[in-house]
Amino acid sequence: MSQSSHQTTCAYCGVGCGVELPRLNDRRIKVSGDASHPANAGRLCVKGTHLGDVLPLKQRLLYPQIDGQRTDWDQTIETIAKRIRTVRAEHGPEAIGFYLSGQLLTEDYYAANKLAKGFIGTANVDTNSRLCMSSAVAAHIRAFGEDAPPISYDDIELADLIVLVGSNLAWTHPVLFQRLQQARQANPNKKLVVIDPRRTSTAKEADLHLPIAPGHDGQLFNALLSYLADNLKIDHDYVDRHVDGYSAALTCATSDAGDSLSTQAERTGLSKESLNTFFKWFAATDKTTTVWSMGINQSESGVDKANAIINVHLATGRIGKPGATAFSITGQPNAMGGREVGGLANQLAAHRMFDKESIQTVAQFWQAPNIATEPGLKAVELFDACRNGQIKFLWIMGTNPVASMPDADHIREALKQVETVVVSDVVTNTDTLPFADIQLPAQVWGEKDGTVTNSERTISRQRAFLIPPGQALADWQALARVGKALGYSDAFDWHHAHEIFREHAQLSAINTDTPLQFDLSAVANLSFRDYQDWQPRQWPLDGRADSKRLFADGQFSTPSGKASMIAVQARKPNLPGEGRLLLNTGRLRDQWHTMSRTGLAVELNRHSPRFEVHIHPADAALRGIANGELTKLHSDVGECYAYARHETAQQRGQIFAPMHWNRTFASHGGAARLIAPLVDPISGQPASKHSQVSVRAVATEVSGFLFVRDDQDTPDWLTDTINFTQPSRQGRLIQFEVTKQHYDEWRVVLSGYHTLQQQAAQWTGAQSDDRGLTHWCSVGSDNAIQPDIDYLDHTAITEMSQLNHEELAEGVSNDLTLLGQRVCTCFSVTDRQIQGFCQQNPKAGLSELQAELKCGTNCGSCVGEIKELMNTCPKVGAE
Ligand code: SF4
Repeated sequence: MSQSSHQTTCAYCGVGCGVELPRLNDRRIKVSGDASHPANAGRLCVKGTHLGDVLPLKQRLLYPQIDGQRTDWDQTIETIAKRIRTVRAEHGPEAIGFYLSGQLLTEDYYAANKLAKGFIGTANVDTNSRLCMSSAVAAHIRAFGEDAPPISYDDIELADLIVLVGSNLAWTHPVLFQRLQQARQANPNKKLVVIDPRRTSTAKEADLHLPIAPGHDGQLFNALLSYLADNLKIDHDYVDRHVDGYSAALTCATSDAGDSLSTQAERTGLSKESLNTFFKWFAATDKTTTVWSMGINQSESGVDKANAIINVHLATGRIGKPGATAFSITGQPNAMGGREVGGLANQLAAHRMFDKESIQTVAQFWQAPNIATEPGLKAVELFDACRNGQIKFLWIMGTNPVASMPDADHIREALKQVETVVVSDVVTNTDTLPFADIQLPAQVWGEKDGTVTNSERTISRQRAFLIPPGQALADWQALARVGKALGYSDAFDWHHAHEIFREHAQLSAINTDTPLQFDLSAVANLSFRDYQDWQPRQWPLDGRADSKRLFADGQFSTPSGKASMIAVQARKPNLPGEGRLLLNTGRLRDQWHTMSRTGLAVELNRHSPRFEVHIHPADAALRGIANGELTKLHSDVGECYAYARHETAQQRGQIFAPMHWNRTFASHGGAARLIAPLVDPISGQPASKHSQVSVRAVATEVSGFLFVRDDQDTPDWLTDTINFTQPSRQGRLIQFEVTKQHYDEWRVVLSGYHTLQQQAAQWTGAQSDDRGLTHWCSVGSDNAIQPDIDYLDHTAITEMSQLNHEELAEGVSNDLTLLGQRVCTCFSVTDRQIQGFCQQNPKAGLSELQAELKCGTNCGSCVGEIKELMNTCPKVGAE
């Protein structure tokens, strides 16, 4: 790092990449990867590369509000404290709840947990991390005795066999995927197996793709355990010395999996050949690392599935060794930090649960007068308790449950029942904010200061480099002020995040003489200067020679020191009924969570600009759904609209929809509305991966595109349409559909526009002011003209007299190569440009293409798509 640059950590996924930036207090900053950070060594994915695009103050929540009225912090804190006191006195502390986020910094999480569990006396403190990895947490505790992921990211490079289960790593954790791909290039014998019902970008790169029947991963890993035993591949010496429960787990696995390859193939939906290949590779490769993610965790039996994976690693002694381990990769930047402080309702603090000794020890450390003594309500239970009136006061921090929780309509109803909803957020346009009685302006990445822990247990600093706007406060500051207003001045007398981190490290010393690995006591007296200068470090920080991996010596966090294999009876998922399809939810390459942040970055919205459902062409044909047609998806709990995208990579009987879209970007909501609130009985994690849905084409009278430059000029008639929004540099482009119901009232709105073009079934019009175009609209009863968003941005700040009216009527610029689907976000390269190059250069390879267009040469997230385009491109003149 040069003297003039500053180091921080990416705000998005659990890889936790280090970021460098050149200047302080610059909201138009270009960031780069921190070459000294162990997670990424200078790499960034496309989301990290565009971190600087989400810092401008547009749509920023700047001031506290009570009941819609702007106020100040003093009055707001007093109101919150008063309402907490009243609810606690009238209904008890369990009528108070907190719903937190894996985006909070560890110091924020610590403050919330201490206030709620230690001083208010409620354990109803849960987090959106419940939706992401709580099944992995429970599996770790069952197997290892502690939620302690044994991984070092280096294992992904060191392994000879990588098994990815329910993970589209190329899109969701791209920097780890880049590390994997570079290791594969260096060692062509290294193999990649991807277990996923979908042929994802990751699966396309695999040596073996197992398109498993959705939800059957438990059966697959039980079958693998049975195979390993039959083929004498169990490490009995390791098992005898370090593992309990082997015999029961094997008996259960064998009866569950069936005793023949044919039966196992039938139960998992895989071919015998591919199953046999996977089993043989796994059995023969000591250095095997298995990585799992949402495809396992977001299930009604996610804990069992995760334990079925860990079982095969324990049985072969492949845990905590270089290149040989089992690993759950988290989705959020600080899900791990939240777990460390007790941010889940069933944890107390510092990896301690609600046992008598832990309650006493933590209460003594905090000098807590009202410590909670029982686990609280997990996320789905918490919102159920809101709906039935049990929760009277709810504080939501840094998350958007109305868009992300299953059965999203139910969450809207639940929040309406709560007497006081407090929402701390940074933007004004989340789906949840309208339900807040009290809105609190929070600090965003770049303004916040504290620590985060990534998926390999590395603690890094997120450093502030911007002055917070308006009255935005750090979340820990708001919490501490409420703590003081409740009368607990000594306990919350912090002046800097450094003091909270030090207290957190001091508390963790309660684990020093226990088998637990989480122990930060080595930095219990960390100075302010050392906190400011903190360089990434993996816990445990107890001075051991190698803290890269846990359990390498076979000593686990249990009283006996042994790990546990768990007898897993895999549960079959419910299959769709007649006429229905199985919805598989997932993530897109350039979006993150509910788009409250990435939705603001214009470039990140070019790759997949509208909400689409991927459907196999044969399933679409059966339902009369054309490619690109608007569809309505309907499940037992809700419905939403999305455009159909025919995808041959989609299995028959299954559809895919991304989880990101919310009501800001899709007027009728996203995939969360379709998900039933079913949970894993152990972890409480919702089964958000799947739902059974029906899909049908929606007949519309007119469709169109509307460009709006200024937010306040958004026409009212849009509310009577089904619409989808894409941000642009100067405004927004909205694709809309008018159904028969609203057609007559809607037609009159076009009279206010200057008509640019009118043909039989198509019309284009515009409105302008002194600065340029304020509105541009195209409609058509069949197909409306699809505009070039860059050209419309140009028109929005160009006087009408200088505009080319022919272009304006057509909504396109002269450079047609700009149109097409964006593939490379970093260098703005479209599929048309790539196809054009391939046609003109039929013998060229990837390197020649990249030398010409640069696509895929920065973050590399798009290389898989580029290769696929090159493979499928008709080559003019090719032999
Ligand atoms: Fe950020 Fe991408 Fe790294 Fe994840 S992989 S931490 S999103 S740069």
